[in-house]
Amino acid sequence: MTTAEELWETVLGELELQVSRPNFLTWLKNSKLAKMDDAGSVFVALPNHFAKEWVSSKYNKIILGSLRTHKDSIKKVEYIVEGSLVKARPKIQPQSASAEKKQLIFQEMRVDPETNLNPKYTMGSFVVGPSNELAFNAASAIIQSVGVKYNPFFIYGGVGLGKTHLIQAMGNEIKLLYGGKVKVKYVSSEKFTSDVVWAIRNRRMEDIKAAYRHIDVLIIDDIQFIGGKEKTEEEFFHTFNALYENNKHIIISSDRPPKAIPTLEERLSSRFQAGITVDVGLPEYETRVAIIRTKMQERGVTLSDETVDLIAKKAQKNIREIEGILNKLVFHQSAYSKDLSAPIVEKIINEITQKAAPNITPTQVINTVASFFEISPNELISKSRNKQLIEPRQITIYILRNVLNMSYPYIAAKIGNRDHTTAIYSHKKISDQLPKDTNLQRKLETIKEELNKLG
Ligand code: ADP
Ligand code: MG
Repeated sequence: MTTAEELWETVLGELELQVSRPNFLTWLKNSKLAKMDDAGSVFVALPNHFAKEWVSSKYNKIILGSLRTHKDSIKKVEYIVEGSLVKARPKIQPQSASAEKKQLIFQEMRVDPETNLNPKYTMGSFVVGPSNELAFNAASAIIQSVGVKYNPFFIYGGVGLGKTHLIQAMGNEIKLLYGGKVKVKYVSSEKFTSDVVWAIRNRRMEDIKAAYRHIDVLIIDDIQFIGGKEKTEEEFFHTFNALYENNKHIIISSDRPPKAIPTLEERLSSRFQAGITVDVGLPEYETRVAIIRTKMQERGVTLSDETVDLIAKKAQKNIREIEGILNKLVFHQSAYSKDLSAPIVEKIINEITQKAAPNITPTQVINTVASFFEISPNELISKSRNKQLIEPRQITIYILRNVLNMSYPYIAAKIGNRDHTTAIYSHKKISDQLPKDTNLQRKLETIKEELNKLG
């Protein structure tokens, strides 16, 4: 007679062949057969809510099928959450650092298809300091009384300061606390815009309205990108009002305060007064150190106090930068499997902090590229299809994306109000060409050097 453990091992072996590798590692690998009862029910334990939802909706059929080929008295499978499964993992495979790292990468992709939320963002992993305390406290209060307190919630601040983290964490926490009773949806404003554009083209506006109005908590990230697109704005206001009047909660992030988005402010200012607007600022040294330590723990790495101090001192403007540095350090450490010397650490930090060049504006990029190619900035952003203008334009788009981290719709708007697909195409064109074209590499290097002098 096989034990539950052996049975589950066999079933997992079979599932591994039927499910893609990333999906298997993400959803099934940490599962366990918790219990079988006499009535023919099998209880499968999964490490969290998302895994449970995902596995039961996607894989129940093949799991049940596989179980029954080995034990035909089995009638159904129930899925349960067992938090301890996650913590048990490092003990099972302490030697395999690269497997751990793969887990981390898959975690990044593990977005819940129903809510669009990424479970890696939690309130618990958000480090609180003076720069974001107000935002964090308001967010916590909202989680406790969804739809009642602080509606709408508007959070703004610079790039990489935790807006997306916090609003996604709110969504995740709300899901955990209220389960299926509260429907949460996270959308980037790019996604919202493209939904609306699709609906207009296909005359399916009603579908969109119905879809969004089913939601109890709507989270819209980077709302600033909606500004300037009339039809989308219009639809956003309608959706917003409909949701608001039904006591649904609306959570919005932006890189600037509401009054810096004129149409939004005009149409919704009275609404905003009823809610709360908070900003997140640059974290100070102590908070940065705490964030670095948290991220180290998440990645299971150790770094010397000097290294932590160095990172905290150098990476001041953007927490995404801190993550970039850590990832690179971890990679370096495991690739050469030895301790990091101070000069190497410093080099890695400099590479990343300089790349970010956060002080450069799009206009400066346009001017610099134009002057390099000896054309005027107006020509560069013009609609002209003159061959001489195409490369400068594409390079500008590439830099705005890779160096300034801007979104495609925003870039497209800056480069002569083009469609964002043009920006995507141009960026791809340069990215594809770059590895094989040393001439292009040299041009880019020179332009970036010019930009660094400005930053
Ligand atoms: P934004 O949306 O403001 O541009 P993100 O939320 O994407 O910034 O944050 C960038 C990265 O920094 C994310 O990986 C996030 O987890 C991390 N981060 C930002 N603020 C914090 C914080 N206070 N505690 C922990 N991690 C943070
Ligand atoms: Mg963001």
